Amino acid sequence: MAATHLETTCAVCGRHFRRSDLRELADMTLGTRSALAAELPELGPDALICRGDLARFRRRHLEQLLESERGALSRLDHEVLDSLQAGAPVSEETEAIWAEERSFGEAAADTVARFGGSWTFIFSFTMVLLIWMAINVTGALIGTFDPYPFILLNLVLSSVAALQAPVIMMSQRRQEAKDRLRAESDYKVNLKAELEIRHLHDKIDLHLTRQWERLAAIQRLQIELLEDSVRDDRPG
Ligand SMILES: [Zn+2]
Repeated sequence: MAATHLETTCAVCGRHFRRSDLRELADMTLGTRSALAAELPELGPDALICRGDLARFRRRHLEQLLESERGALSRLDHEVLDSLQAGAPVSEETEAIWAEERSFGEAAADTVARFGGSWTFIFSFTMVLLIWMAINVTGALIGTFDPYPFILLNLVLSSVAALQAPVIMMSQRRQEAKDRLRAESDYKVNLKAELEIRHLHDKIDLHLTRQWERLAAIQRLQIELLEDSVRDDRPG
């Protein structure tokens, strides 16, 4: 496709874009510019670069920055860089993902562990024990089926304890995994925020520098105009 008068080519990938979709090299932050210069040293300050390439070089700069600060990058660091490059949010609904991913058995373990660790369970279980003992001591309602010292009740209790322990352990392990997932998500959000803030700092610095340059240029122009008018006013 031939470039129309509204379209310009990207200096990196060579594809055509509208002028508004391209950015000048001089408008980029120092880090992105240095990453670009490392790969394409021949680019001038007025070279135009598309958003995709811009995001790619910004990512490379951040990658180098993180590597220089902490050595090898982890899976989480790469996920953060991916989201920065794509401009997508990094935070996840940990709770929702967790609820979606658990199987029927895991959901049941959670419910049992939650019920087993509640006052409702303690009170209702105590009631059952008392009723059991009362029936077998007095022989009321259905007669004595487990006389003192309640050997059948002992068997039932040890069975309940034997089953409850692994269920609680299962639920605890899942809780740990859930906490880890949440901590990972927090880490990613924090790292991304830190990188974005640094980027904003760079942008503001760039903006200030350019403003000063523009101001200096205006002053130079004013001085020249003044000098001209003084020369014109001089007699002879
Ligand atoms: Zn490009």
